[in-house]
Amino acid sequence: PQLANQIAAGEVVERPASVVKELVENCLDADANTIDIEIEKGGHKRIYIRDNGKGIHHQELELALSRHATSKISKLDDLENICSLGFRGEALASISSVSRLTLTSKPASQQQAWQACAEGRDMQVTIQPSAHPDGTSIDVLDLFFNTPARRKFLRAEKTEFSHIDEVIRRIALSRFDVTINLKHNSKGVRKYPAIKDSQSQIKRIAAVCGHEFADKAIAINSEYEGIQLTGWLSPAGEGRGQNDLQYVYVNGRVMKDKLINHAIRQAYEGLIETNSHPAFVLFLTMDPMQVDVNVHPAKHEVRFHQARLVHDVIFRSVSKALSESFS
Ligand code: ADP
Ligand code: MG
Repeated sequence: PQLANQIAAGEVVERPASVVKELVENCLDADANTIDIEIEKGGHKRIYIRDNGKGIHHQELELALSRHATSKISKLDDLENICSLGFRGEALASISSVSRLTLTSKPASQQQAWQACAEGRDMQVTIQPSAHPDGTSIDVLDLFFNTPARRKFLRAEKTEFSHIDEVIRRIALSRFDVTINLKHNSKGVRKYPAIKDSQSQIKRIAAVCGHEFADKAIAINSEYEGIQLTGWLSPAGEGRGQNDLQYVYVNGRVMKDKLINHAIRQAYEGLIETNSHPAFVLFLTMDPMQVDVNVHPAKHEVRFHQARLVHDVIFRSVSKALSESFS
């Protein structure tokens, strides 16, 4: 099983940042509202993540580490209607096959915390009692220690950490209600305290995107044809040098999508002649049956059943918000 898991790991675990992404998504799926992340040496040495979510029951610990074991989908129909971030049951098995992984958890209903780790070629899981508050911790040491080819592709500590920082930024924009703290080499690097009311959301935007964007951002909030678009945009003609500040979420998942970006760019270009580099954080909410997210875990691609309609709705909403801010 270790080889099979390592092959699967090639798909899911490209670098430390992809480990962090998978693990933090698991915390969110477990309804955690506080997530603490500690990174050492760009994640190569250690990735430690603790949450206060619903935990993993003692009897399920071993299963959580095995491949294609997910607690999130019970029947095939669910695949059409995925609300959780994870559903493949592959991440933990993959990560533990290329690192020294320890999983410690305590559901609130359980008196005792338990700890599991899988080791060796046969991924033998050992389980022992442990101490832990309600929630789950995952400790990933020595990533790629047993896959030298992959280890060779690791970049400088700073580079790997900046990828992690970006992953956390994306997640922080998708869940204002969750506190996320990020440390690197024992130093606090990011603090994103939970946002309790919608008036304060701009605080999270400022924390993640900086004041330069947040202070001038135009709020957008519209709905056409059952497709809701909310978020913030840089004013037309501004946002130079911020062209990497472009975040789009579809039903809470971050997406890179040409269609969406095209619609946004068109809306800007309809207003000003110049080639603009808009910055934006946008949330598209629509019937999950109208979107396919069952694509490669690392690619963030989405397929809309009614692509034309989605394009038009985004174009109209963004154009309207921009032109209102003009007058
Ligand atoms: P998936 O997220 O696709 O279900 P994973 O390999 O990421 O698969 O996780 C396997 C299982 O382990 C999950 O289905 C979940 O039951 C459990 N799990 C993992 N991380 C956590 C966590 N932080 N809190 C609670 N349960 C978790
Ligand atoms: Mg997962």
